[in-house]
Amino acid sequence: MRCPFCGNVDTQVKDSRPAEDHVAIRRRRFCPACGGRFTTYERVQLRDLMVIKSNGRREDFDRDKLERSIRISLQKRPIDPDRVDQMISGIVRRLESMGETDIPSTTIGEIVMESLARIDTVGYVRFASVYKNFQAADDFDKFVSELRPDASPEK
Ligand SMILES: [Zn+2]
Repeated sequence: MRCPFCGNVDTQVKDSRPAEDHVAIRRRRFCPACGGRFTTYERVQLRDLMVIKSNGRREDFDRDKLERSIRISLQKRPIDPDRVDQMISGIVRRLESMGETDIPSTTIGEIVMESLARIDTVGYVRFASVYKNFQAADDFDKFVSELRPDASPEK
C-alpha cells in the first residue's frame, strides 16, 4: 500500500484487527521512509457498483467519496465514529443488495438522507442542503439537454 504522504510503496502493517462488528479489517500502517502513519480498511465487495449521474454518465461507486460527504455533514457533531462507520456500511450493503449494479445518484442521495435523518438531524439538514444544490445543477443540465431535441434527459 502506497504511503499517502510520501508515495513510498513499501509500507508496513503494524496492527490488524476486526472493525465495524467484523465487517471490516482495520490495519494501522507505518511508512519507514517518512515515518507517516495511516489506516486502511479491508472490506468485502459483493459487486462492483456503478453510479449513474443524472446527465447519464456512469462512474465507479466510490465508498470513500460517500464517506467523505457524510463525514463533512457530521463535522463537529457528537456522533460516535463507529456509529457513522456502521451507517456507511449499512448504506453500501443496501446498495449492493438492490439487485442492480447501476444505481442512480439520486437513489444514493435519498438513502444517505434517510440514514442521516435517523442518527442526526443537523447532519441530515447539512447533507440535504448540499444535495439539493446538486439537484438544482442537475435541473440545469436537464434544461440544457431539452434545448437539444435529440438528447433525452435522464429522469
Ligand atoms: Zn511515507
